[in-house]
Amino acid sequence: MSSIRFDQKTVVITGAGGGLGRAYAIEFARRGARVVVNDLGGSGSGDGQSSAAADAVVEEIKALGGEAVANYDSVEEGEKIIQTAMDNFGRVDVVINNAGILRDSSFAKMSDQDWDLIQRVHLKGAYSVTKAAWPIMRKQNFGRIIFTASAAGIYGNFGQANYSAAKLGLYGLTQTLAIEGAKNNIRANCIAPIAGSRLTETIMSPAVVEALKPEAVAALVVSLCAQECEENGSLFETGAGWTAKIRWERSQGVVLEGEDAVDADKVADSLARIGDFEGADHPASIEDTFKPVMSRIGMDQAKP
Ligand code: NAD
Repeated sequence: MSSIRFDQKTVVITGAGGGLGRAYAIEFARRGARVVVNDLGGSGSGDGQSSAAADAVVEEIKALGGEAVANYDSVEEGEKIIQTAMDNFGRVDVVINNAGILRDSSFAKMSDQDWDLIQRVHLKGAYSVTKAAWPIMRKQNFGRIIFTASAAGIYGNFGQANYSAAKLGLYGLTQTLAIEGAKNNIRANCIAPIAGSRLTETIMSPAVVEALKPEAVAALVVSLCAQECEENGSLFETGAGWTAKIRWERSQGVVLEGEDAVDADKVADSLARIGDFEGADHPASIEDTFKPVMSRIGMDQAKP
């Protein structure tokens, strides 16, 4: 028997009609969860809609003996998705923000529409679903939330300015919700997955798409949503059974005194030393950022 179980728990998964979301839905259901399979059912670039994708995954879960219900709303209307969970199962314990599309083009050629749609689906969509679930999780003193970033957001990628901005934005959201939810046992984590799906089949060979199983990403996602999991505010890269954690690294920095502190030429002369990571540290909070700055003005103990 699996040790991580979700019996009596309701898991809402956006974009669960295919790819990664489908793998999550099946794995949560296999471990006893009641699953809301949300999917708008449009194309990879966000055109059109259909109930077929979500329905197919619900049928698959039922055939395996699990419990699931479909929802076809866009993540932009998060309250409707959460309402489906409440109407059918009476609670929401886990939210997996996974729905996504691509509108790739170089920044020079990117239209306002392509910029806006990507922000709306990825960033506003994850906000909207999570915002609707938040008071429910706070009230029951339990919640597990996953946001889906991307290596394109962490490192940048040619042709994905809109997508990169939204994806790293989701990590910012993760970190703040991890802080705000902690006292109510709500934990938020973020993943940057690599898997074969219709979004990656255009840039990967069929053999690579076939080998990069979404199920390997599902294993991390499910583990982060376990009741016992204490992980909070973290960012993971994961694919094909490899999982690594990302953290910020900060150089020791350079202090310029007196007139030099406001002299751009002196800063320019110091850039190489500023970027020297010998003796770097790993700040983990906003307080860690203020420390060196406040100590410069002789207010080490003071709050900004
Ligand atoms: P996918 O296209 O198979 O799955 C995305 C699903 O989201 C689709 O079924 C789609 O219909 C649904 N969707 C799109 N817009 C929606 C909306 N407005 N409301 C509800 N559902 C909507 O692609 P995937 O690779 O499984 O992607 C899942 C997530 O992982 C996405 O957020 C994607 O950006 C992210 N991601 C994937 C990879 C990868 O290697 N596959 C890498 C980095 C990030």
